[in-house]
Amino acid sequence: MTNPLLVLGSANADLVVEVGRRPAGGETVLGGDTVVLPGGKGANTAVAAARVGASVALIGAVGGDGYGSLLRESLESSGVDTKLVKTSARPTGIAYITVTPDGENSIVVSPGANADVSSSDVDAVSFDGAQVLTCSLEVPLETVVHAIGVASKAGVRTVLNLSPVAELPAETLRQLTVLIVNEHEAAQLAPGFDGLLQLGPKSAVVTLGARGAAVVTEEGITEVPSIEVAEVVDTTGAGDAFAGALSARLAEGDTLVDAAKYAAKVAALSVTKAGAQPSYPTAAEVSSPAV
Ligand code: ADP
Repeated sequence: MTNPLLVLGSANADLVVEVGRRPAGGETVLGGDTVVLPGGKGANTAVAAARVGASVALIGAVGGDGYGSLLRESLESSGVDTKLVKTSARPTGIAYITVTPDGENSIVVSPGANADVSSSDVDAVSFDGAQVLTCSLEVPLETVVHAIGVASKAGVRTVLNLSPVAELPAETLRQLTVLIVNEHEAAQLAPGFDGLLQLGPKSAVVTLGARGAAVVTEEGITEVPSIEVAEVVDTTGAGDAFAGALSARLAEGDTLVDAAKYAAKVAALSVTKAGAQPSYPTAAEVSSPAV
């Protein structure tokens, strides 16, 4: 028996450095001290789910280097099962992030081991006991397509956070239980929110930033308002927090609307703290009377 929630996606070390300005080609500038943070959409999603109590395993890969050990430790300390995280011959995925005083980020992603997550890794997974498979896109698209096919044939509900938008086979879209996109991605895919269902998924959730989210099913569109937060500190990883918490609640048997209401609370709390994973709340924090 495997974990009720499986997440397929990336794990990256985010190397963040503040610079006065970015260097031009051939130029060197001095920056501040490097901050190393655990990241990657798959790892973020799995950590968000584990924090709110899900039994979740990440299907992914890291390198056999120091960053790989760091990412494994941080996943495990959040309660994510890493038995399906393989050690690749390639280096751990790294996001090189420079931040200028205006707060703007420039990012180079080196996928490394994430590019090595393959269909045969998915075939090695037992879906027996799994309720939900949640995928994001920083691993090869063909692996995501394969996983959604295998899970849906095994009767496991499938969730895909299609960020950024990528072209998927029509059959894969039809195999989706829930398609998650943000407002901009939704506009790229279909003229109206209900048009998303015409692409094939059984249901869709559109995240709307500070306005919360919209749940789209055959019965219609349900608006899920966000909770108001005193101060927005950092929205990095809010979408991953939403996807992780929604998946956690679906795996527990919540309806999609109830799961989205819960996810909106989790994501709103996450924007009140710095960073992605370090900002994700626990179940106790979500149910605190102050929220
Ligand atoms: P992404 O970060 O993927 O573009 P969104 O900006 O839509 O996605 O944010 C994802 C979720 O995070 C939203 O649905 C909402 O629940 C929550 N969220 C984002 N920004 C805020 C905010 N300023 N206040 C409260 N909740 C927010």
